[in-house]
Amino acid sequence: MAFMRSKQQIEEIPLYEMKVWSCDNDECNGWMRQDFSFSEQPTCPLCQSRMTQETRMLPELAHYINS
Ligand SMILES: [Zn+2]
Repeated sequence: MAFMRSKQQIEEIPLYEMKVWSCDNDECNGWMRQDFSFSEQPTCPLCQSRMTQETRMLPELAHYINS
């Protein structure tokens, strides 16, 4: 499962459900918000892999995370 793989703790920051593109590469944590992507089927900015749509709970100002 790709969900909850981040150990990052985010506290006291309100989270919003957002549609994102998530990198298909299991070794890459690249993702981007759909409203900040410009193509129907973007490729990962980090590794150029295919990306899959999913929904994540994110802080409002998170646009990209490269972790
Ligand atoms: Zn990637």
